[in-house]
Amino acid sequence: MRLLPRFLVAGALVAAALLTTGAAAPLPPLPRGDAVKLLDDVRTLSDDRMQGRAPDTPGSLMARTYIRKRLIQIGVKPLSKAGFQQPFVIKAGGKTLYGVNLVGVIPGRQKGGRVMVVTAHYDHLGVKNGEIYNGADDNASGVAGLLAVAESFRRHPPKHTIILVALDGEELGLMGAEAYVANPIVPLSRIALNVNFDMLSKNAKGELYAAGATPWPILKPRLDAIAAIAPIKLLQGHDSGKLDQDDWTNQSDHYAFAQKKIPWVYFGVEDHPEYHQPTDDFATIPQDFFKASAATVVAACRLFDDELDAIGGEAGR
Ligand SMILES: [Zn+2]
Repeated sequence: MRLLPRFLVAGALVAAALLTTGAAAPLPPLPRGDAVKLLDDVRTLSDDRMQGRAPDTPGSLMARTYIRKRLIQIGVKPLSKAGFQQPFVIKAGGKTLYGVNLVGVIPGRQKGGRVMVVTAHYDHLGVKNGEIYNGADDNASGVAGLLAVAESFRRHPPKHTIILVALDGEELGLMGAEAYVANPIVPLSRIALNVNFDMLSKNAKGELYAAGATPWPILKPRLDAIAAIAPIKLLQGHDSGKLDQDDWTNQSDHYAFAQKKIPWVYFGVEDHPEYHQPTDDFATIPQDFFKASAATVVAACRLFDDELDAIGGEAGR
């Protein structure tokens, strides 16, 4: 049975893409200005000057300064009274490092109630043997996607409060995500969904995966509805929970939320030849795919916001 997109009706941007016949028309592309900024954000964050954004390095500070500036420019406020920064300690390889998450908020039209947390890690591997690992796809692309979500929700305010977290220390073992769920600033019980972006920009077959509907089947009809209008192939899977090679349940920051029994959706591409290589540069990103991928995840976040009470209710949260 073809799923008619009843879930989309409330989403102004998404609904605009639907024909009156009920057949689904493709999503409109990102607004032109947002698409330009999306590419600027990836280009800047994966520039050699950022030195691969390893935690507790000058390059990391430079990346954070840039992301903070962008959040302020968009109009995102800090979630904590203390500001955007959420510092935490990383113990890795016998060393103590200092990581920093950036935590922002876009208030919902409804006060209180359920919130959605959108995450993307900004750290990468740094410099090894004199080579800079720029991490353009992994995960400058996810941070740029998070900023595109912020642009959309600032322009058309969300129903629910949206928390945006640029995470540090992912490559050292999901450290920033663990630090955030240990100190979520709002009670964990209010978080109805985590949407995590990690590698949005590159796939030879034009495919993006959404993982999370196997443990949380309530998400499947929503993801099906987005897939029906997405300008790329949005597939579901890699979420069996077996923690084997094919399963991404514990492969990125959403795992910290999964362990707290919070529903999650992870958007990402399959590994590619540049994965964790010094060649993961801006120049190797197929820009048309990335813009289409970003339009897809923005639309998904808008739909999840519209449906957050149903999702939270069905999930018993
Ligand atoms: Zn990553």
